Amino acid sequence: MIIGIDLGTTNSLCAAWHNGEARIIPNVHGHNMTPSVVGIGDDGDILVGLPARERLLLYPQLTTSLFKRYMGSNKTAKLGERSFRPEELSSLILRSLKEDAERFLGEKVTEAIVTVPAYFNDTQRKATKIAGELAGLKVDRLLNEPTAAALAYGLHQRDVESTFLIFDLGGGTFDVSILQLFEGVMEVRASAGDNFLGGEDFVTVLLDAFLNGPGQALRQQYAAEHNADHFEQAHRLEQVLRKEAERVKRLLSDNSTADFKVQWQENSYTWTITESEFAKLVEPLLVRLRTPIERALRDSRMRTSDLNEIVLAGGASRMPLVRKMVARLFGRLPATHLNPDELVARGAAVQAGLTMGDAALDEIVMTDVCPYTLGTEVSERYGNDLQSGIYLPIIERNSIVPISREKSLTTMHDDQKFVNIRIFQGESREVKDNIFLGELEVPVPQRPAGGVSLTVRYTYTVDGLLEAECTVDDAKEKHRLVIEKNPGSLSPEQVAERLAQMEKLKIHPREQLENTLTLNRMQRMYEEYLGEERAYIGQLIGRFQRELQTQDARLISEARREINKLLDNLEGELRL
Ligand code: AMP
Repeated sequence: MIIGIDLGTTNSLCAAWHNGEARIIPNVHGHNMTPSVVGIGDDGDILVGLPARERLLLYPQLTTSLFKRYMGSNKTAKLGERSFRPEELSSLILRSLKEDAERFLGEKVTEAIVTVPAYFNDTQRKATKIAGELAGLKVDRLLNEPTAAALAYGLHQRDVESTFLIFDLGGGTFDVSILQLFEGVMEVRASAGDNFLGGEDFVTVLLDAFLNGPGQALRQQYAAEHNADHFEQAHRLEQVLRKEAERVKRLLSDNSTADFKVQWQENSYTWTITESEFAKLVEPLLVRLRTPIERALRDSRMRTSDLNEIVLAGGASRMPLVRKMVARLFGRLPATHLNPDELVARGAAVQAGLTMGDAALDEIVMTDVCPYTLGTEVSERYGNDLQSGIYLPIIERNSIVPISREKSLTTMHDDQKFVNIRIFQGESREVKDNIFLGELEVPVPQRPAGGVSLTVRYTYTVDGLLEAECTVDDAKEKHRLVIEKNPGSLSPEQVAERLAQMEKLKIHPREQLENTLTLNRMQRMYEEYLGEERAYIGQLIGRFQRELQTQDARLISEARREINKLLDNLEGELRL
């Protein structure tokens, strides 16, 4: 069985192609979304998803989130004694989703289609594949998130030639893609985006406005805690503030005003913010959203009037001010009838269905584009002047993949023994401004300058992986690229080593997860609430602990249900 997985910055989802349709698979807690959060519990076990998120506030040193932002880098997160790479943390999320799917479907799941932002680079894509491997999943294909959104809307089933723009504003990333459907071929004409722009930034803006105004005293307190090395306390305050800002942001999606309320130690702060004040604060973010849209239109040589459909995806596209901006920009209302949080996972399941060859799905051929220009470093000679460090594009950005392109080069110096093919990704004329991907040292026969010609061929696969090949023309011997100094990628030996280490991790037993979640939730709420409510939560904790001691599964599950209902009442509708 192949499943579809949306491995998101804030939340991840999984879906399967089942009886001719994409179905979201609920997790062990019965929720469609699994927070992309990993932590270590009291007994040293690994916690994934909601039970981990409940501990973000209380145990910031033992919990981590937003690691998708560091995919493909060496940045690690320390949880207790051990450091985790982003692909290891992602693999724990994937593993948890795989187990949810196996339980739900009643069969083994060994393969998955995993989605990635369209402009994830080579290293980030490789890291995502490795995350799958560490989770015991063969990643059948990496699918660009906007392409998945189009598949979820069934746009691939249209009969006539159509053009779509997918606007995907998630928690941490923004993706714009222009797709074209022509004679059963779905083609990504252009994709652009911003890897550091998403719903979280709207939260940050709200938070900063609060700390610069009504919450100024809290800012000073935060600085004081930091200066006194009370990092846990400072971190806790930050989390409380962020959570409130997130709540207010969501409230402003349905209300014209909202109250930003914070209780910290003996002081309480309230700030009433209106929708129009919020709109003014986030104006710079709305302006930033336009840049990738304009670039995608320019790259695909389209005008807004050429677009047949605008699709909104990603949780943050629910914000009315984002919708208004999109409607104004394109002069029409975007498609919003499917849940924007679930689109990408549904699309991944459609792709899984296509891969498994389900007869109910019309065969479509999918093409994607490579999101960046890929090239090599060359030198240029102007008379006696030699200018080095010049970028020679080989595969242009937004070329349809799979693609293979070659360029011819000649040696620059007399009796040169080697040619170094340095591979870069980026759009700048000087290689120093582009991203270095790797290099290939090719021995050449010693001849006068210009006496040896070489062919450099780049091949970019549908998975977004790059292979470089260099042939010395009269030797015919091919040199293939092995990217050795790639800082963000693990070698196969390192993957095997990590896999062995991951197998030793103690994952919290699934049958106890519901109880752990309830306990973690109560502990978090105990810290957050004060007075009578706090005392009441304290009593509930005592009661649940007593029930747990009975070890009577029926009694425990009844108590759990009842207690969660009471907690729901206390937290109201706004439980995040
Ligand atoms: P995703 O990465 O697609 O799960 O998107 C998550 C982002 O969507 C987070 O930044 C959420 O704060 C945001 N989000 C979800 N629901 C709403 C809402 N009703 N109003 C505003 N933002 C939302």
